[in-house]
Amino acid sequence: MYTSPFDHKLALLKSREPAMRYDGKESFEEYRKRACEKLYDVLGLPLERCDDSMTVEYETEWDDYTETRFSFQSEPGYTIPAHLCVLKGKEGPQPLFICLQGHGTGQHISLGRVKYEGDDTFITSGDRDLGVRAMKQGYSVLTFDMRNFGEVGGNPGPQCYFSSRLAIKMGRCTTGEKVWDVQRAIDVLEKYFSDKIDMNRIYLHGHSSGGMITLYATALEPRIKACMASGAFSSFEAMCGKLKDGCDIVPNILKYFNMGDVAGLIAPRPTVITLGDADDVCPMYGAIEQFPLVKRAFEGAGAPDNVTFLQMTGGHRFYSDSAWPVMLGYLKG
Ligand SMILES: [Zn+2]
Repeated sequence: MYTSPFDHKLALLKSREPAMRYDGKESFEEYRKRACEKLYDVLGLPLERCDDSMTVEYETEWDDYTETRFSFQSEPGYTIPAHLCVLKGKEGPQPLFICLQGHGTGQHISLGRVKYEGDDTFITSGDRDLGVRAMKQGYSVLTFDMRNFGEVGGNPGPQCYFSSRLAIKMGRCTTGEKVWDVQRAIDVLEKYFSDKIDMNRIYLHGHSSGGMITLYATALEPRIKACMASGAFSSFEAMCGKLKDGCDIVPNILKYFNMGDVAGLIAPRPTVITLGDADDVCPMYGAIEQFPLVKRAFEGAGAPDNVTFLQMTGGHRFYSDSAWPVMLGYLKG
């Protein structure tokens, strides 16, 4: 009898552990440093550094916040559109959530704005106006379009397929590019907005592809102090058949890490993971299998209670009313 090549590889994966898994034999900090260096390398990072060419396009005064629309260059020749929304009526530099959308029409979804047909339903059916809720909870917000989405991803997009395939052929990958962009966005906050934004209270929040980048970027970027990821956490092999455009492919990742290992590198910083039991992108069985790895890392870091996995009833969406109280408990408790 013949075995399918896919099943053959699943069996191979079951027979061995990723090489960078935390085994508790060294201090968590030493392990974390070693593992982050490997993860950075596997993601095809660093890209080339450059002048940020930060340009403010306009400012808009809303009742509750001031919005600055700007662009910045994250690597030579590549420019990102962004919106910074700083709450009014507060003293001193503000805590901030960077909000990352998943596959959709762009960052305007995070701000609850309708630009294309279907955006309205897309927002309301999945609490995808991440930034609107974050501002209601008292946080200023930064959004930007991740690669191949929104204003850098077709009309209305997304446009992952060709860019992601080309990236892999060049020894880089879309996931690494997006992590790099999050880091460069924080550079811009630090350089131009540190009078408005408290750089010790930068948090990351993302759904779907944005949730996956949230886990990778928080693992690697110490300036991010807590994170919330939804519709993003499962095993890499369980997600294999679900994501079809290639933007999630990180070459060689399973030699070294599975998703639980990556999320474990966030420890001890507060982390809220949400997933619906009927999520058709991130199967729950993969998340249940991976979560003990995250828990073990947080235990190793001496903060076992700083990670919460909310198993929800429902599909591929964010669950703001369940996730936010937990996150607020971490940040304000
Ligand atoms: Zn994609």
